[in-house]
Amino acid sequence: MLDNLYRQVIIDHYKQRRNFKELKGEYVRKVHYKNPSCGDVMTLFIELEHNQVKKAAFLGEGCSISMASASMMTELIENKSLKEISSLRKAFEQLIRNGVNPNGVDLGDSLSLQGVHQLKARHNCALMTWQALDKILKDVKEYNTL
Ligand code: ZN
Repeated sequence: MLDNLYRQVIIDHYKQRRNFKELKGEYVRKVHYKNPSCGDVMTLFIELEHNQVKKAAFLGEGCSISMASASMMTELIENKSLKEISSLRKAFEQLIRNGVNPNGVDLGDSLSLQGVHQLKARHNCALMTWQALDKILKDVKEYNTL
């Protein structure tokens, strides 16, 4: 199961979700997303300007892994370019699907979800927030061409 220290980081994000709010404004995009395998639901908000994510926030309800992963992601992608975020996304998927981070990408607190690799039924819980991001950015070339 999950390592103790990592579990504390996950519980902390679950109990005190970062950026747990709605974003409004001209540059805000949002998407509703749900993970049918666990019943997790979320709305992701992204403020996008000049191919950079200025702010990220979410609302939702679900298991600790899904909510912690969303909380961690909103912190991780803030003020990053879409190219950087695209490589973070690929590294995180590797971490969950294969349990490895071969290029040593700085995933911040999201790295604490590595143990989810061993819980195959929960992979979608950890990846849901990134799949929601894919949906928001599906028409943005800078995110999708790498
Ligand atoms: Zn879940």
